[in-house]
Amino acid sequence: MSEPIKPLLTSRYGVKESWKLANAESAGAYATARQALTTRKPEELKEEVKKANIRGRGGAGFPAGVKWGFLNPQAGEQIYLVINADESEPGTFKDRSIMDLDPHRLVEGAIISCYAIGAPVAYIYVRGELAFSLKRLEQAIAEARQAGYLGERPFGVDLGHPIEIYVHSGAGAYICGEETALLNSLEGRRGEPRLKPPFPAVKGVFGMPTIVNNVETIASVPDIIEMGGDAWSLLSRLPGDGGVRIYGVSGHVKNPGLFEAPVGITMRELIDDYAGGMLGDRPLKAVIPGGSSTPVLDPRRKVHAPAEDHPLHKWHGMSEIDVPMGVDTYRALGTMLGTCCAIVMDDSVNMVEACRNLMRFYKHESCGQCTPCREGTGWLVDVLNNLVHGRGKTEDVDLLVNISNNMMGNTICAFADGTAMPMLGMVQKFREEFMEAAVNGVPDGVRHDDSVRGMVEGAA
Ligand code: SF4
Repeated sequence: MSEPIKPLLTSRYGVKESWKLANAESAGAYATARQALTTRKPEELKEEVKKANIRGRGGAGFPAGVKWGFLNPQAGEQIYLVINADESEPGTFKDRSIMDLDPHRLVEGAIISCYAIGAPVAYIYVRGELAFSLKRLEQAIAEARQAGYLGERPFGVDLGHPIEIYVHSGAGAYICGEETALLNSLEGRRGEPRLKPPFPAVKGVFGMPTIVNNVETIASVPDIIEMGGDAWSLLSRLPGDGGVRIYGVSGHVKNPGLFEAPVGITMRELIDDYAGGMLGDRPLKAVIPGGSSTPVLDPRRKVHAPAEDHPLHKWHGMSEIDVPMGVDTYRALGTMLGTCCAIVMDDSVNMVEACRNLMRFYKHESCGQCTPCREGTGWLVDVLNNLVHGRGKTEDVDLLVNISNNMMGNTICAFADGTAMPMLGMVQKFREEFMEAAVNGVPDGVRHDDSVRGMVEGAA
């Protein structure tokens, strides 16, 4: 049984009207920013973030401190901070809670981060559908500006540059969560990914060096600076992957929601100890660990790592859901930690239908620049439609694999890989169900409601 930890990121969620400045300040907000801007040097703050070993919370898991280190302040160019609040990965709903319930934590994190990297301006790019979050952020920024925490002399200190934060609304495209598509959208262009390199730290928004970080990453900065990077890192159970994070759980559990816990708890702990166990005590069939782009875990499968130098050797022979949830451990397991928001499925779920549901989403959201992605997502949906409706052939199962393999690594951005990898994982782990569908289709009553399907496909 996991011991609950003292909340950090979510510590003010229970405070009455926690989104108002006076209440947030009574509960500790802005003390760290004031102290950092008045007594510490930017280089010291960057060093603390590096020591914290915080891996980006948006899905890619890149170390934030290392990313900040790519900036070259000597170049004399204007530096921007862009906070990615375009949370739209299916199954993921953690950043929204920070913006809605504790927007001042994000604003404080942005102020400290701007000071640390020398950025006079931060943009928060909010998913278009999150109108409520956007309003909360705008109110919080206005309050912080009124209090003198933003502007020419934040906290009364002459930093040599102002600190301003602006909120920018997206228009509801999933691809704008990809950092370079987000930058294009922010500039008023079509939200299409750019080829990398150059990476944003070299040439980002308006052609200037830009750090793009996720909401939760920036919201973690005040605690990192207050505790010190080393101490914060040690809250994790895994080396090189520091701190605490917000885990999300949706699907067939008794208590779906958000839970703050150390990095490195297992999926079994997350489901049983935090989310109350399986709904109706039915068996766990599968779990998508970190948003829909991450390959599925199958609790029946055992970790195969007999070699002593294998990163998962300690868990050899154990179920996949007993491996600690970390960026590197999950990569070694053949999946990804992603946004750390799990979609839990019990034995009532047909995996072919679940897969079709996901692939319809990707077909709808592909920006269409790259042929393997634009055409591949459509083909996957067509083949899955045939399987579900009893029009398939057994060769179709390998066709799904073939299409997916031809999408991987052949496109401008990681969207195609993020589509192909979960597709391949589903076929690899639940092949017998795909073969069964190829012969008999998916029974009525298991398929999603036709009117909903019509709406989604009509929109595409
Ligand atoms: Fe657009 Fe897909 Fe190409 Fe990414 S991989 S740029 S989403 S077409």
